[in-house]
Amino acid sequence: MNSSDTPSIISQNIQRVRCEIQETLTKCGRSGEKVSIVLVSKFHPQEKIIEALDAGIVEFGENRVQEAEAKFPPLFPRYPALNLHIIGRLQLNKVKKAVALSSFIDSVDSLKVLEAVEKACFQLNKKVNILLECLVGEESKAGFSSLEALKEATSLILEGKCPHITLRGLMAMAPNTPDKEAIKNSFLTVKGYKNALENSFPSLTLQTLSYGMSGDYKLALECGSNEVRLGTCIFGPREY
Ligand SMILES: *Cc1c(COP(=O)(O)O)cnc(C)c1O
Repeated sequence: MNSSDTPSIISQNIQRVRCEIQETLTKCGRSGEKVSIVLVSKFHPQEKIIEALDAGIVEFGENRVQEAEAKFPPLFPRYPALNLHIIGRLQLNKVKKAVALSSFIDSVDSLKVLEAVEKACFQLNKKVNILLECLVGEESKAGFSSLEALKEATSLILEGKCPHITLRGLMAMAPNTPDKEAIKNSFLTVKGYKNALENSFPSLTLQTLSYGMSGDYKLALECGSNEVRLGTCIFGPREY
């Protein structure tokens, strides 16, 4: 906690964003539904992460394994509820470290990465939660770019080929454009994938739809998101 009585800027921002999430949910007929915030701490120092932990945030996202490795391990013993999500492109040679550090890999973007995650879990005797990343317009990203590709990954998991992996849902990044319709369409495509997968695999429940960042999270909530990954609107601009 801050030593002063006034809440820190970070905790004020968290409060404000939580209110805005509630307002948006109410506006789109989703009041009462739960939305998680994954606080994206890339390029932000450990002190800010601690401030956010002290303000009650427990889910954090990092893009780069090396950076996560430098900031998070000392925090786990102090904050048992802390969950680290890896949200960036994973090189195969970083998968084992990623699995060792995190409880969620939100950016499983290919069968190769899926298999590498399972192998790392086996070696580390650890289970992880994953999201399958869908490629819906952000050209710089990787990801599953069709329902067929998503079905292939999902059936591997459901057939028991990945016993250390729990499939929690789908993740996506909208295209980097001011065109709201394009962003909305990309989100709705992911929601459509979720529905189609659950129809194809009756035993499957995809709890998590992870889309929406600082600039588009309200639109994402209108399009069914229940996990928003927020950096700038809570931590301020990144210092690269
Ligand atoms: C950086 C990043 C975010 C957060 O972006 P902000 O615009 O700062 O909210 C969310 N998701 C991913 C995958 C990111 O790389």
